[in-house]
Amino acid sequence: MIALQGVAELRRIKAHADAIEIGGAVTYTEALPHLDQHFPSFGALVRRIGSRQIRNLGTIAGNLATASPIGDTIPCLIALDATITLASRAGERVLPVESFITGYRQTALAPGEVIAAIRIPLLASGEEFAAYKVCKRFDQDISTVVAAFRLERRGGKVVTLHAAYGGIAARAMRARSIEAAVRGRPWAPAWLADVEALLARDFTPITDHRGGAAYRLRAAAGLLRRFQLEASLAEPMRVEAL
Ligand SMILES: Cc1cc2nc3c(=O)[nH]c(=O)nc-3n(C[C@H](O)[C@H](O)[C@H](O)COP(=O)(O)OP(=O)(O)OC[C@H]3O[C@@H](n4cnc5c(N)ncnc54)[C@H](O)[C@@H]3O)c2cc1C
Repeated sequence: MIALQGVAELRRIKAHADAIEIGGAVTYTEALPHLDQHFPSFGALVRRIGSRQIRNLGTIAGNLATASPIGDTIPCLIALDATITLASRAGERVLPVESFITGYRQTALAPGEVIAAIRIPLLASGEEFAAYKVCKRFDQDISTVVAAFRLERRGGKVVTLHAAYGGIAARAMRARSIEAAVRGRPWAPAWLADVEALLARDFTPITDHRGGAAYRLRAAAGLLRRFQLEASLAEPMRVEAL
């Protein structure tokens, strides 16, 4: 048995020119200043994970290894194209977060492997990122739907949109039909009329005590509408700030 918190190499946060690298035993609280600096809305979302006590002990690596469909950090890491370094006696391998999560609470972690680090590429100039969490209470509640969007626009048109959702399938994953449909189109509300139908192509939401399948699809579509609105304002801002 190894207490990962006691392994100094896993407690490091490295700032690279193009990425931040968060060690496998770095707590949410320790990661927060770096998330706030580079991805403020990721930081804001992490502040809603559990309570201060949970954030002082829990780690992003633990959130990933649990592979819950409502793990709050996972859609953010997928939308940001984060990768993880898995280490074992046999050596190291690097996997995109998206392929690390293989199913409902299933991962590609092999026996004897640990998540040594999570590497999050910084946003390129012109890219925008936002993350959203929908749950019954604002604080200390687990998500019904969680979403993260990374957008690159040029000349008013979408170059790429990465849209990742948790809570509407057995695992967090990208909404590929939406991503494909919006590529090259104006960043305007017109295409949003189709969003629910596009989401239904990629996701078959569950119904549980936190929300019905139809509610989940509507909420997921609403979050993208909200991102479109917030990212269209002359001064990008969150609706809460209005
Ligand atoms: C009261 C409470 C509230 C919570 N609220 C939220 C919430 O709002 N949103 C949310 O997303 N989650 C929430 N969680 C879940 C929690 O945030 C995550 O599960 C947490 O990130 C776990 O981190 P940990 O380091 O404590 O992992 P542990 O609980 O210690 O481990 C979880 C699993 O991950 C494995 N693991 C941990 N670190 C590594 C590593 N470096 N390499 C390989 N495997 C590893 C462990 O072996 C274990 O299987 C909550 C949990 C509690 C108890």
